[in-house]
Amino acid sequence: MTFFPEMTSLEQLLEKLPAHLGHYETLCHVPLNGKTLPIYGIVLGSKVPSAPTLGLFGGVHGLERIGTQVILAYLQSLVELLGWDSSLNLLLSKVRIVSIPLLNPAGMLLQRRSNLKGVDLMRNAPTQADGAPSWFLPAGHRISSWLPWYRGKPSVGMQPEARALIKFSKKYLLPSQRVISVDVHSGFGMVDRLWFPYAKTVKPFSNLPEAFALKSLFDQTYVNHIYQFEPQSRQYLIHGDLWDYVYDLYQRRKARGGHRVFIPLALEMGSWLWVKKNPRQLLSVLGVFNPIKPHRQQRILRRHLILFDFLLRVIQSPEKWAHLSQDQRQYFRQQAMTLWYDQDE
Ligand SMILES: [Zn+2]
Repeated sequence: MTFFPEMTSLEQLLEKLPAHLGHYETLCHVPLNGKTLPIYGIVLGSKVPSAPTLGLFGGVHGLERIGTQVILAYLQSLVELLGWDSSLNLLLSKVRIVSIPLLNPAGMLLQRRSNLKGVDLMRNAPTQADGAPSWFLPAGHRISSWLPWYRGKPSVGMQPEARALIKFSKKYLLPSQRVISVDVHSGFGMVDRLWFPYAKTVKPFSNLPEAFALKSLFDQTYVNHIYQFEPQSRQYLIHGDLWDYVYDLYQRRKARGGHRVFIPLALEMGSWLWVKKNPRQLLSVLGVFNPIKPHRQQRILRRHLILFDFLLRVIQSPEKWAHLSQDQRQYFRQQAMTLWYDQDE
């Protein structure tokens, strides 16, 4: 069988995209057992290249099916809303939503983290972490494709899935004046974390002031939200992070028409909590990364709607977080350095 529930739901969603507001692209095909699996990109909303853009990505790690499910659930609601909600239609005439809900279909079908070749796609970009200890395999390694977190051979270049993500990002994220993206993962820790760059270094990324302002705005607007917002490097460093790579590409582009902001977030859903509530999940390989009981799965599919809704609103309203004066940037940067980097500037 080539198809599986997430691919079926994704293809059903593609059929429902409102033609006047969106389209999908088949970014590449991944060969598997004599057949091929498609990787789809979805584009909704404004066709102006510089329009503010929200990116939603999932299924980078094949075992983490819940990430793809969370994005599909949100996009399904969005497509329904577009059928009757005039305010959302108005919003999407100004902003763009782009998504690759399932980047690693072969991994998902085969129930493995890596792609078919054993490469961990989130370790596959040509970026090198400074200071990651070589014994720490989760940072990414080149020992063997039989071990998790394998980076792939540099001589081969990036894997087709990773190249598809980069190409899609170049087309829809890099030209945008303002981008927030969310790449949904699961499997680390007890709480839901929102990580921003870098993963390769403990040095702060250029949009640190904007990231801090965004976090503050989220804290003020949704006082009971559940997320721990922090730089990925606060937990561990990794080689080859695709979002580090895309972020640096974005930064290298000369700013056209004002200040450009890109905050690539990774939503790392704390799956250890699901395991704690239902320890039998540890007996299955999918159970470590996904909620197994139906009521818990439904709860997770609802849980992140507030976040996506906030990001969609905030991408169109930059005053409090993206259009900052030099003084504000300096102030937020100082706050961020104290909070996340344990230092006063
Ligand atoms: Zn993951």
